[in-house]
Amino acid sequence: MPDAAIQRVGVVGAGQMGNGIAHVAALADLDVRLLDAKPEAVEKALATIGKNLDRQVSKGSVTAADREAALGRITKARDYAGLAGCDIVIEAATEREEIKRAIFKSVIAAVGPDCILATNTSSISITRLGAGTDRPGKFIGMHFFNPVPVMKLVEVIRGIATDDATYAAVAGLAARMGKATALAEDFPGFMANRILMPMINEAVYTLYEGVGTISSIDCAMKLGCNHPMGPLELADFIGLDTCLSIMQVLLEGLSDTKYRPCPLLVKYVEAGWLGRKAGRGFYDYSVTPPRPTR
Ligand code: NAD
Repeated sequence: MPDAAIQRVGVVGAGQMGNGIAHVAALADLDVRLLDAKPEAVEKALATIGKNLDRQVSKGSVTAADREAALGRITKARDYAGLAGCDIVIEAATEREEIKRAIFKSVIAAVGPDCILATNTSSISITRLGAGTDRPGKFIGMHFFNPVPVMKLVEVIRGIATDDATYAAVAGLAARMGKATALAEDFPGFMANRILMPMINEAVYTLYEGVGTISSIDCAMKLGCNHPMGPLELADFIGLDTCLSIMQVLLEGLSDTKYRPCPLLVKYVEAGWLGRKAGRGFYDYSVTPPRPTR
């Protein structure tokens, strides 16, 4: 299917990634069907999309008319039947393999045989997920970055069976959504997380071993290496549970002890100090500016 033939996009999972994907797809003139297991998540997503579009209007990057048109292109799907007629379905539900497998089973029953199936998974094998469907050739990874309306990249991951036409259609679709693409083969962590997470984990080791403090480690990487955020600040932004789970995927999937998660990262997660979303991680977000917790 050429990418220009993609007119209707289903998004399953209306959390922080799903709402961002629906947002950029609607702004790219696509007809969007948004589905979540929890109907209130779709309502919340629509409110978030509205607010984020308001911000873009106030910055002048989107016109008020485009905002209205984009919101008008997003339809709540009450169930899988609401995805009928989709040319592609992008799954952005909770990062659990059995959830994603069950979603694709229901999607397949609702869409036509040419519909492309894409997943936004951060770490689950595209090849394995695709093999569990009736169309491994039309199955692909579309790994967006958070926040989706702001971040310019989509990492496109081909499973071993993904065909060239599917890759071409999805790369074209990402371009229509205003994103650059970087092609990755299907190995644990793909590219961005394979490189980023060991750096964050090493920053936690640097803290754990007392080589630097939270502030000095972040300062070193910001001012010395020109990173926009320090690695510990970034870890808090991503979520320390997410960082830990990606390190575990790298360790298990690549069987190399260089990917062992730092015990201090494990301890923060066990404490529930998961970063910004929990109000506390390497920084305490109850004060302004956030204060280092060690
Ligand atoms: P989230 O928790 O914000 O949203 C997940 C949504 O999935 C929730 O609304 C939940 O109700 C819904 N859901 C759960 N089970 C479902 C089901 N069976 N059917 C339909 N909906 C269901 O999570 P998120 O951060 O948006 O992550 C979603 C996916 O995107 C994950 O695979 C994650 O690995 C990936 N991802 C996340 C980030 C990030 O920075 N957060 C970046 C790239 C990729």
